[in-house]
Amino acid sequence: MADSLSFLGRAEIVARLSDMLGPDAVDTNEQSLREASVDRFKKYSAVHGIFDGPFPCAIVYPRDTEEVSAVLRFANDNLVAIVPRTGRTATEGGLETVVADSIVLDGSRMDRVLKIDTQDMMLTVQCGVPLQRVEDEVRALGYTTGHSPQSKPLAQYGGLVATRSIGQFSTLYGAIEDMVVGLEAVLADGTITRIKNVPRRAAGPDIRHLVIGNEGAFAFVTEVTVKLWPYQPENNRYFGFLTEDFGTGVDALRELVVQGYRPSVARVYSPEDARQHFAHFHDGRNVVILVAEGPRRLADATAEAIEEVFSDRQHVRVEDSLVQQWFDNLNWGQDKIDREKADMLAHSHLGYTTEVSVDWSRVVELYESVMLRVRAEFAHADDLTMLGAHSSHSYQTGTNLYFVYDYTIGCDPRDEITQYHEPLNAIVVEEALRLGGSMVHHHGIGKYRTPWTAEEHGSALELLVRVKKALDPHGIMNPGTIFPLER
Ligand SMILES: Cc1cc2nc3c(=O)[nH]c(=O)nc-3n(C[C@H](O)[C@H](O)[C@H](O)COP(=O)(O)OP(=O)(O)OC[C@H]3O[C@@H](n4cnc5c(N)ncnc54)[C@H](O)[C@@H]3O)c2cc1C
Repeated sequence: MADSLSFLGRAEIVARLSDMLGPDAVDTNEQSLREASVDRFKKYSAVHGIFDGPFPCAIVYPRDTEEVSAVLRFANDNLVAIVPRTGRTATEGGLETVVADSIVLDGSRMDRVLKIDTQDMMLTVQCGVPLQRVEDEVRALGYTTGHSPQSKPLAQYGGLVATRSIGQFSTLYGAIEDMVVGLEAVLADGTITRIKNVPRRAAGPDIRHLVIGNEGAFAFVTEVTVKLWPYQPENNRYFGFLTEDFGTGVDALRELVVQGYRPSVARVYSPEDARQHFAHFHDGRNVVILVAEGPRRLADATAEAIEEVFSDRQHVRVEDSLVQQWFDNLNWGQDKIDREKADMLAHSHLGYTTEVSVDWSRVVELYESVMLRVRAEFAHADDLTMLGAHSSHSYQTGTNLYFVYDYTIGCDPRDEITQYHEPLNAIVVEEALRLGGSMVHHHGIGKYRTPWTAEEHGSALELLVRVKKALDPHGIMNPGTIFPLER
């Protein structure tokens, strides 16, 4: 938490914003401001109506890039902190307004699909376009973006790019950084910058990566161009296997991916995690889920390789249709968020996740060490109703582990973060770093993993610090995100 950076008072900031954008683009409703001060990291205290501030002075809704530029120029000149947002599904505190009188810069009204180009296989959208809406639109034309995070119904392109998001079909289509062709962004001082769309270039370092994953701490993303692929669901082949141990499943994924096969979905669930996803068939074992996708001959070849890899590993095969059905209810729209809120209030119970990545050789060690440490060290271990993990995104050199923990809360809602979420999160992060992995695979650092940013990057931290200083010299962009809050 920090005092306002600005010499302007709250009322004056609001007045200047209203002059700039018009009053209907500036929300100062007290409840909206309270809710805008947190994200899903504080979902439990929020559902109890507990908001400790600091609160933003306004939420502003620019209609185009020039308005984004005007707001940022004003904020930069007057040292007003900015918190960018779009779909509001952030889970790591990236939307928390930790500096008093911040401006929440909300791109969700910039929601136009600008171009669908099926010759050059590109789609251009403004930052506020929800992924589900545009995916439905291109599927109707026979194409797909290939991007399918669980938050697809709600997440929008600005946030998807800013967090380095990843979806369920990542082994085939990649993560957002593999999809972005070019983009437009606005820097802290209002400068508009456009990285043009080309198939590849060797004109210096890849500057897209200064913006992708910046979590609103370097620049505001206004427009994005991503790749398109043909959509051929009729060729999809679904597979499910039960294995006695987690390592067998991980090893099977490794063999497939390392050989060069690209099943779009490649997942292994520990028995605890499998119980909540596949209650009807997991049978107390680890569950492996695979999907072969793409042109018919490629999908068939991938399917053949999947069967071959399992032919010499002990397993029980699951009915394909059970796996296919699982996808139908996987994503989270507002209905599930609302149900979760009602459940949290009724049962003082919730679930969180921490996702990390690690080389193939350390995956099982990471899984086991986290399970052991949580059981041995976590003061509220008896309140855990579930602790497990799955691997859901695999690469040539390793995979991610997504630790999932549910608990019943036995303390004041205000203390849930410090007594439950933070200690569990810390164990996962510490173990990933100890084993040479990354402390964050796809949710971003937000504000709660900043204590480990220096350890994550080691001597490369200097590069990141200098980029931040060059792009945001006054430190107005999402203070406390990626880097610990400077007071
Ligand atoms: C139920 C659920 C399931 C999820 N599943 C996945 C998943 O499968 N894969 C995955 O990767 N993530 C997942 N997430 C996390 C989240 O959905 C992603 O991080 C998503 O990319 C955030 O997009 P958003 O539009 O909601 O961004 P927001 O929540 O609005 O913002 C997220 C971050 O990006 C910054 N930001 C937002 N817009 C901009 C912009 N225009 N310019 C610059 N910075 C900006 C914000 O400041 C913040 O730091 C899930 C979240 C939930 C709640």
